[in-house]
Amino acid sequence: MEPSREVPFLDGLTMKEIASASAPDADVYTKFMMNHCCYDAIPTSSKLVIFDTTLQVKKAFFALVANGVRAAPLWDNKLQCFVGMLTITDFINILHRYWQSPLVEIYELEEHKIEDCREEFLKYSNHTLISITPDSSLFDAIYSLLKYKIHRLPVIDPESGNVLHILTHKRILKFLHIFGTMIPKPRYLQKRIEEVDIGTFKKIATVRETDTVYDALAIFVERRVSALPVVNEEGKVKALYSRFDVIVHRLVLVDKDDVVGGIVSLSDLLQALVLTPAEISRRAQTLTTEEKSGH
Ligand code: ADP
Ligand code: AMP
Repeated sequence: MEPSREVPFLDGLTMKEIASASAPDADVYTKFMMNHCCYDAIPTSSKLVIFDTTLQVKKAFFALVANGVRAAPLWDNKLQCFVGMLTITDFINILHRYWQSPLVEIYELEEHKIEDCREEFLKYSNHTLISITPDSSLFDAIYSLLKYKIHRLPVIDPESGNVLHILTHKRILKFLHIFGTMIPKPRYLQKRIEEVDIGTFKKIATVRETDTVYDALAIFVERRVSALPVVNEEGKVKALYSRFDVIVHRLVLVDKDDVVGGIVSLSDLLQALVLTPAEISRRAQTLTTEEKSGH
């Protein structure tokens, strides 16, 4: 397919450049993901917490923490189906929203049920549950995770309607790590990060050491990024401020003076290893309005 060849991806390189740098073995991980289904990547046992939409928001977030889980599917008893996910991002969005509003006291929020806040969530998130069936390929799962910019993809059995597992970037990369050892490594893996240009190197969102927590929340909400390098006055990285569980999930690249230059996240790895060799660029994944609403 000639037209997509020259479309820039990963912020700079073209297909032709990557092809000459790494062909003919560049698509081994793409094929691996196409040849394995979501069911293959599900662990034999794992904890799953589900919330009814009539549960109080406050109790839901306590339950997430108490159970040591990062997200829960939302069950609507009236509709008798799963209608969305509750994640740490939703918690950040709610905190940010009510922090701003002098009219709403924080104790009012304590009474809110998940269903009362759904309208608020929907402003920031997808309008319907994005899920996948167990027999869909892992390639399709990666495509959905990156296209919809979500970190949780429930695997739902089409017959029973049960959630079998919640797939994440980490689980998929772990599956590749364990079962992909026999695959010959593509040559581009030997190159330095800056050579293959995996990651984000422009408009890096950061917070200063002197910024408030509210400043950081506002950046999380506006930029939809999941981690913020904390920098000093000279731009040197001092720490990483992340959305709860995400701190293992990315690298901050600095120069010899510790000045922040870029970010490489698990999304970037899946993009480079699986989607880019299939000629799906980051830009090609820009959602239409209809797709944003999940229709
Ligand atoms: P986190 O990184 O905090 O776990 P996500 O990036 O997965 O959160 O979530 C971003 C937004 O998308 C949140 O509002 C969340 O409720 C929503 N969301 C996450 N997963 C799904 C999904 N599978 N279907 C629909 N919406 C989702
Ligand atoms: P993630 O939400 O961690 O999966 O990352 C999604 C995309 O955002 C990836 O392309 C990252 O490189 C990029 N990214 C993550 N954190 C930041 C940040 N603080 N500033 C700019 N881009 C970021």
